[in-house]
Amino acid sequence: MIFLNGRVSGVILVGACCLVWMISSWAWSAAPGEGLIEVTSENVPGVVLDLRYASERNITGKKIYSDGHAWLRRETIQKLTKAVRDLSEKGYRLVLWDAWRPGYAQKVLWAAKPDGRFLTPPSKISRHRRGTSVDVTLADKNGKILEMPSDHDEFNAKADEDFSDVPKELAKRARILRNAMFSAGFSGVPDEWWHYDLRDWGSYEPINGKGLRD
Ligand SMILES: [Zn+2]
Repeated sequence: MIFLNGRVSGVILVGACCLVWMISSWAWSAAPGEGLIEVTSENVPGVVLDLRYASERNITGKKIYSDGHAWLRRETIQKLTKAVRDLSEKGYRLVLWDAWRPGYAQKVLWAAKPDGRFLTPPSKISRHRRGTSVDVTLADKNGKILEMPSDHDEFNAKADEDFSDVPKELAKRARILRNAMFSAGFSGVPDEWWHYDLRDWGSYEPINGKGLRD
């Protein structure tokens, strides 16, 4: 009986180990690329997730991502958290439109708009693919997305940082966003008010997706 109990407990132990291994390997494989962490309301409290490429509300008119999960490097998440905190003190919430972007998404976007002024051609590595870059906008404290100088990926003069061609109120909002992102340690680009990078983005390697057409 003691022997049997030993065998039974051995089986339970092996079973428990298998379960732990399955859970941990599942958690590991859940990240689409090495070094990526999911952006959640736990690690970025107050963030509003509205991944445009996980919806049809993007320049292709089609869903590019299979789900609305956002992934970034740890350093990017830490800085994003600072920006979210800063904006919340001013009565705003930060909305994440895009984060890490796999290579296949870059190809789909390029096919829809093959213009090197606004998109990185698939032959080059986009900043978003490094997990260091974000597309962001503002919402009010209830999460209602606010009107800004232009829509996401609206590639025209309204999107650039010369806000002389947009209403003053909208220019002011874009500047509030820009100040919060710069204070948190990001840099911007002149042609897209919504795009921000870690200042040392060039020192990070691109992250390839697992199981994706990368
Ligand atoms: Zn971007």
